[in-house]
Amino acid sequence: MITKGTKLYSILTGACPKCHQESMYENKNPYVLSDVLKIKETCSKCHTKYRIEPSFFYGSMYVSYAVGIAFAVAAFVISYLFIGTDLLTAFIAIVGTLIVCGPIIMRLSRNIWINIFMHYDKTLVKK
Ligand SMILES: [Zn+2]
Repeated sequence: MITKGTKLYSILTGACPKCHQESMYENKNPYVLSDVLKIKETCSKCHTKYRIEPSFFYGSMYVSYAVGIAFAVAAFVISYLFIGTDLLTAFIAIVGTLIVCGPIIMRLSRNIWINIFMHYDKTLVKK
């Protein structure tokens, strides 16, 4: 379903947006907090430069806002509507979710941001 060549693959795995052959991140695990935002300079397979311009990834903060809202709404729906907690507990669940999922939200928003500007290129895979 989610195969190489789709934007969703690159967004969910953090793979190079052009060739999908390797991770953009120096450490694949987002919960190693010292490495959460460390992105390689270029892709070792297709030599794509990830930072198109200086401070390129600052723009991902806009995406991060939307992704954060999505996680918060999901936490609220699960705790308040499905489990049936009161509003205070639902609020605590939202805050907890945003803290625990923080590294995932940061990486997801960076992946979405870079995938807005770069597209999969089949011809790069053969090299
Ligand atoms: Zn690549």
